[in-house]
Amino acid sequence: MREADVVIAGGGLAGSFAAAMLGRAGIGAAIVDPHTVYPEDFRCEKLDGVQMHTIGLTGLTDAVLRASTADRECWVARFGHVLEKRPGDQQGIMYDTLVNTARAEIPASVPFIHAKVMDIATGPERQTVKLSNGDEISARLVVVATGLNPNIREKLDITRDIISAGHSISIGFNAKPADPRGFPFPALTYFSESPTDKMAYITLFPVGSMMRANLFGYRHLHDPWLKKLREAPRETLYGIWPGLRALMGDFTVDGFVKIRPVDLYVTGGYRQQGVVLVGDAFATSCPAAGTGARKALVDVERLCNVHIPQWLKTPGMGEGKIAAFYDDPVKRACDDYSSEKAFGLRAFTLDTSAAGIARRWIKFGLHWGKGTMRSLMTPAPSTVVHDDEGNAPQLARGDRHF
Ligand SMILES: Cc1cc2nc3c(=O)[nH]c(=O)nc-3n(C[C@H](O)[C@H](O)[C@H](O)COP(=O)(O)OP(=O)(O)OC[C@H]3O[C@@H](n4cnc5c(N)ncnc54)[C@H](O)[C@@H]3O)c2cc1C
Repeated sequence: MREADVVIAGGGLAGSFAAAMLGRAGIGAAIVDPHTVYPEDFRCEKLDGVQMHTIGLTGLTDAVLRASTADRECWVARFGHVLEKRPGDQQGIMYDTLVNTARAEIPASVPFIHAKVMDIATGPERQTVKLSNGDEISARLVVVATGLNPNIREKLDITRDIISAGHSISIGFNAKPADPRGFPFPALTYFSESPTDKMAYITLFPVGSMMRANLFGYRHLHDPWLKKLREAPRETLYGIWPGLRALMGDFTVDGFVKIRPVDLYVTGGYRQQGVVLVGDAFATSCPAAGTGARKALVDVERLCNVHIPQWLKTPGMGEGKIAAFYDDPVKRACDDYSSEKAFGLRAFTLDTSAAGIARRWIKFGLHWGKGTMRSLMTPAPSTVVHDDEGNAPQLARGDRHF
């Protein structure tokens, strides 16, 4: 039987970051995941400034920056009007690239075992992990980072309570502009024009040489609108948001339109000796709220920087020790924020009452105010050129994007 201080079940975002951090800290860890290379998967595809800050605390910033694409500037728009040009703080990166980048940072001292965890027997001192290849590992602690897969949680009698079935729908595609000069914006976030759209916003951001689009909303997976979107993406999108056409112009979809519904769930009975749940294994988040990656990263940062080094200092791995992680104020605040944002954004997008309409106008008024202040305080961008008479501003050829 292999021995380790910590076994990580699952090598997705949370598990791979945890393995890299524990290995670098000199902790005797092993990681188990069936995929030698993390496969293509439609999940989080960009990291915002707050997520990059958390990555800074994991020590993997340089690796992530090398593998991702900075957006430089993001236009915020609604009804065909640009409200604000925000300084860029987002890094575009496909999910498999992100996970594989973290995996490449796992030191050789941490064995990566390509198998599935089939069962875990827990105890106050040591845990036994059974693998699909017949091997067994004995460890002081098991980090369960198995994402949406319910098997291990079920084996541990950890319940999954769905708090919002089909909470939101996420759509991803590559947008290719018809104009060979590219899209006029470096990145764009375009908000819903009406609550009857049942869509929250679309965000376009560069990943390498392509412009990636993520569209989030609140439609049922079998809504015929989604079928139409797959068949005729541009016209279906412009059908609900005619103002978007003024900004995006003609475009085609390069490759597939990926559509994924998300249920929000929380777990119960997770306070157990010897095991700790992180990321989606603990609870899901709404992709429209954009908090899932942050939640997984905050879990791992708190666990690997604070709690595991503390737990390993003394014998035993009882429930009392593990509770310190679930009660960690930084983790709790992040989980609460994620949950509030998931329900708050949905209500904000779908509210048809006068108060709801007023709230949306106030929000976009604030964006416009910020944008106006910023443009008054910064010199005119070099992207705007004038014709011979010095009027009719238009974008310079070389400043179009993708
Ligand atoms: C469509 C979609 C869009 C999203 N968009 C965003 C976004 O824009 N912003 C954002 O912040 N978040 C977003 N999220 C959420 C975010 O991607 C997730 O919260 C995050 O990736 C979860 O990471 P994880 O490590 O917990 O799970 P995963 O990355 O899913 O990792 C789980 C790993 O466990 C492994 N595994 C499973 N079972 C076993 C087993 N028995 N033994 C060993 N290994 C096992 C799997 O192979 C996998 O590698 C989105 C999610 C979805 C579904």
